[in-house]
Amino acid sequence: MKEIATALNSIRSTLPRGVELVAVSKFHPVEALQVAYEAGQRVFGESRVQELVAKIAAMPSDVRWHFIGHLQTNKVRALISTKRVTLIESVDSERLLSLIDEESAKAGIVSRVLMQVHVAQEETKFGFSPGELLDFFRNRSFEQLRATHICGVMGMASNTDDEARVATDFEMIADVFHKILELAPDLRGFDTLSMGMSDDYPLALAKGSTMVRVGSAIFGHRG
Ligand SMILES: *Cc1c(COP(=O)(O)O)cnc(C)c1O
Repeated sequence: MKEIATALNSIRSTLPRGVELVAVSKFHPVEALQVAYEAGQRVFGESRVQELVAKIAAMPSDVRWHFIGHLQTNKVRALISTKRVTLIESVDSERLLSLIDEESAKAGIVSRVLMQVHVAQEETKFGFSPGELLDFFRNRSFEQLRATHICGVMGMASNTDDEARVATDFEMIADVFHKILELAPDLRGFDTLSMGMSDDYPLALAKGSTMVRVGSAIFGHRG
């Protein structure tokens, strides 16, 4: 457990100013999160609604929770009704976005979200293709939202040892982010580029990431 604080401090020391570290605590017990909390960590990422709900109840109220997993439409209400999610990083369809908006309006909150873009080699990963996402902003579909604030883009690189491939993936994600800003310069607070995980966050930082989501490098491998 002491390793958690050591790992957090060494990762933090490498992050440029202004880059947010999300400690991805999915599948790890509350005790591990508490150690990270005592080491000053306040932002945690979870990928399952039930697990998140339980951890919200167990952790102090100043924790900022990010949802980072594939969000099933039948779980949206349960997630939104916690009113405790700071950022939903993994909006991967327009249908999911509409549901989040609807439930947020009903709950009387504004949800902050990132749009997930898919560039990686793996066929099973969720997310908008770069073209789909650019069309969404070109068509100004975001103007229909009443209770949702789109704050940026989240993406993952291919799961490979090929660093050149990973770097190209991050470049593509960053490129989508910058193109959206050009298409819709009036978008407010669209400033978050979430990319980089335990094995590849230094490469992501080199490509302009403003938010890294690090799990196993902090908490060890999930049992
Ligand atoms: C699990 C997960 C992470 C963290 O992965 P590590 O390799 O453990 O750092 C980051 N982002 C997403 C979307 C994840 O699902």
